Amino acid sequence: MHPLLEMNNIIKCFGPVKALDGVSISLNKGEVLSLCGENGSGKSTLMKVLCGIYPHGSYEGEIIYKGKKLEPRNISDTEQLGIGIIHQELTLVKELSILENLFLGSELCKFGIMDFELMHYEAEILLKKVRLSVSPETKVGDLGVGQQQLVEIAKALSKNAKLLVLDEPTAPLTESETEILLNLVTELRDSGVSCIYISHKLSEVKNISDKICVIRDGVPIGTREAADMTTDDIVTMMVGREMKQLFPREEHDIGEVILEVKNVNAWDKANSAIPKVRNASFELRKGEILGVSGLVGAGRTELMECLYGCYQGKHEGKYFLNGQEIKTASSRDALVAGIAMVPEDRKRNGIVPIMSVGKNMSLAALDQFTSAGIVNDTLEANKVADSAKRLTVKTPNTEIPISSLSGGNQQKAILARFLMVTPSILILDEPTRGIDVGAKYEIYKLMFELVKTGLSIIMVSSELPEVLGISDRVLVMHEGIIKGNLVNENLSQEIIMNCALSEGVVA
Ligand code: ADP
Ligand code: MG
Repeated sequence: MHPLLEMNNIIKCFGPVKALDGVSISLNKGEVLSLCGENGSGKSTLMKVLCGIYPHGSYEGEIIYKGKKLEPRNISDTEQLGIGIIHQELTLVKELSILENLFLGSELCKFGIMDFELMHYEAEILLKKVRLSVSPETKVGDLGVGQQQLVEIAKALSKNAKLLVLDEPTAPLTESETEILLNLVTELRDSGVSCIYISHKLSEVKNISDKICVIRDGVPIGTREAADMTTDDIVTMMVGREMKQLFPREEHDIGEVILEVKNVNAWDKANSAIPKVRNASFELRKGEILGVSGLVGAGRTELMECLYGCYQGKHEGKYFLNGQEIKTASSRDALVAGIAMVPEDRKRNGIVPIMSVGKNMSLAALDQFTSAGIVNDTLEANKVADSAKRLTVKTPNTEIPISSLSGGNQQKAILARFLMVTPSILILDEPTRGIDVGAKYEIYKLMFELVKTGLSIIMVSSELPEVLGISDRVLVMHEGIIKGNLVNENLSQEIIMNCALSEGVVA
């Protein structure tokens, strides 16, 4: 039996950039192959070659699909052959219903008239297949990101996809949405659909794949059975250097209590009858990394926003910095007091996409470069250059728009912004979501460097390995309540998970 797909020796250049330098992959029917590699290693480019987005003739090498040469001119060529691609950026039309999106451009007709009854019936079957229990008439804009992702898959299935490409599908998803998606991929595989899967979440990759192919800088490093690889193996192949562990823990001194948070209550922004944070109190020590764990919706972000003075809903509570009560009615107050927060959703709350890398970095510290209302450009540029270097922000220069950087480098630039105001407490909400392993490693290293200088860090994270790998102590929240306050010694994912789910107070 020949493989379903072979891509042999693919070379693809963008001007002087060799994005792919002789990459080969092979995939059997009913198999899941994961592509791993840091940002910019060429994963998406390889998939765009496969799908005809970069047509035959714009690359070297050959593609063999179902035993025949495949020379796609465009994406509909490959769609017709049962190759479906789901990009990280969703492509559905938000104003239209699920049904309209599913059949856009391939409406089902009877006697030349659109057959809505048939489409409705087909749509229901497709939604059932992807375990989405909403009406096909629902507007796509009213669905969550995870649900939209499932509609995209349903759409690919409607075209009878035999090979499904998922390019970083779970980056924006919650844990439960991720689980649904992973289960679906497994089910599809069992029904004979092959899958090429791209994700930065290596434990996910390991669980779901039959084979893993690692690419570095457009060069194939190797393909192996997933069962024979540990996540450390994958990382080592990806970054090309031995990485003893994912988390560069370093000894650091933990001092006296610098922050006390007392009896914080917060209510839902839209409905002040629904509590989001319930009587939460905790302390933070100098030089400490405090992890905050819990399921999505446990109230972690809300608690941090209250402290940082940016929570939009009704809230109350007391905050003491070095024994002195502080009022944080706004983020400005918090920053002045020495508390900085890097928000969860970089794209929505963090970066100003049209502004340059440098301007994004200096945004919070403009006061430092301004006298009598005039910005001292040289001073600003020097500060920016220093920070960019210290945080290893990889950018050709700091004048280009921040949106052209990779996620990891954007995150470093945002971190730089808040470090410029020299806070004593830094709150990081999901600091490494959706960024590659190399950049993650650098951010962790930076965190340890910072706490060694006496800064304290609160890190909200949904990734348990990260919480365990980085924190000195872990708060676990469940339905707005701090259920656990655990020193990170002999802690395990199970202990934290039990605490995040259970009703009993652990500590
Ligand atoms: P990945 O998906 O692994 O993050 P990509 O395939 O997107 O990586 O990118 C691989 C390399 O090709 C990067 O150096 C990227 O900057 C470059 N590249 C990708 N698309 C284009 C394009 N349309 N024009 C120029 N360069 C590109
Ligand atoms: Mg990509």
